[in-house]
Amino acid sequence: MACSFTLDHYREILRAAQAGGYRFAPFDAPPAPGDLFLRHDVDLSLEAALEMAELEAEEGAATTYLLMTRSVFYNPASREGEAAIARLRSLGHRVGLHAVHPHVDLDDRFDPVVAWHNPEPEYMTAPIDGAVNPMAAPYFDPVAYRSDSNHRWRSGCPHEELRAGAFPWLQVLVHPEIWVYAGSTMGETMEAMLDAQQAHRLALLAEDRIDMS
Ligand SMILES: [Zn+2]
Ligand SMILES: [Zn+2]
Repeated sequence: MACSFTLDHYREILRAAQAGGYRFAPFDAPPAPGDLFLRHDVDLSLEAALEMAELEAEEGAATTYLLMTRSVFYNPASREGEAAIARLRSLGHRVGLHAVHPHVDLDDRFDPVVAWHNPEPEYMTAPIDGAVNPMAAPYFDPVAYRSDSNHRWRSGCPHEELRAGAFPWLQVLVHPEIWVYAGSTMGETMEAMLDAQQAHRLALLAEDRIDMS
């Protein structure tokens, strides 16, 4: 099994976790043996989040999507954003907030799970009033955490250890854009995302009654 950042390998990781006896856990009870907390910080693309969410549902995986209210790339209050939240929920996933410090815009669209976008160390792991911070105790433990940030697993792809049941429990941060769009580097992947968004954006312009003739 080659560790690529592709949806095919993501599916293999989910199956490895199931083979290893892990249970997909939301952030609503402290980590227990066998829990796998799959967290998605949605930084750039609702389309990528939805594509990953559909694949997870096919595999019987319920995970946690954290959406931004202050992104420059998408708007959860738009028609598309509202539809995305509804679809994520109908697939069985949780929807929390990926917040921009110091703003915690928690409202009834979101489950009370909040992780900061591009956090500074001073507040990354601090408790947040009225919400679970996945980067704070008891959900965060450096030995029970893996992240795919910037197209690189800090401590390696976890699939082998998941299949072997080697982690007592684990939190994995997966950014959907990195897996949905092709590329062998973050830069290539972002170029592929921008190419894919071009057609979609043209359709949105037409819908917005822009004359493209
Ligand atoms: Zn792997
Ligand atoms: Zn982020």
